[in-house]
Amino acid sequence: MIVTIAGQQLLSIAEISSAPSMGVFYVEAEMAVLDEFQDFCVLECSGCKQKKRTKDRKNFDCPKCNRKIALVPRCSFQIDLIDNTATTTSSISVELGEKILSMTAEDIFDITCTKRQSLSLTHVHEMLSNKVFAIQLRKSSWASSNTTHATLSILSYTEKQHAPQTTTDRTSKKIKPLEISEVEVMATTTAAGSSNAPPKIEPPTPNKKV
Ligand SMILES: [Zn+2]
Repeated sequence: MIVTIAGQQLLSIAEISSAPSMGVFYVEAEMAVLDEFQDFCVLECSGCKQKKRTKDRKNFDCPKCNRKIALVPRCSFQIDLIDNTATTTSSISVELGEKILSMTAEDIFDITCTKRQSLSLTHVHEMLSNKVFAIQLRKSSWASSNTTHATLSILSYTEKQHAPQTTTDRTSKKIKPLEISEVEVMATTTAAGSSNAPPKIEPPTPNKKV
């Protein structure tokens, strides 16, 4: 059994998926947003914070608050967790979700619900790629028509320290190629397509005669 610094049991995704018990678990996994066409937000009552099944922001007659009250968007979406044992889908919401998307719930609602467009997730994919996160998950259950469903939600996550290999790769990418090699590449390209090359482009000052 692997135990985290906080003394919590660290499980694999496969173990969490099959665990019959509900509660808080820790995993180390990669995260990915595989469903790009979700709304990434829900509307909730600004009074009781209860999630509403509507995309219409007009004032809502909340039975719990017993008055007409404004609905506000809350960031919430499905994120996939991957380790070497299995893949599972978890929900992530509010600040954690906004942090991953680098957007506020209002901006997300405007794009996905008002304009009915999909979010551009390129920066999210880049941010999450090749990273392992230490994730705190809550597994909870809810019942509907005699079936019990288990859902996972992310309570917190922290990026794990990069492997030394990754650091080396990053450093090497920072080194700018020398100007000479750029000139050489240009000269080679020009020579290869000489018949199509526009005559007005002057080749860089030749260093050696052919
Ligand atoms: Zn309410």
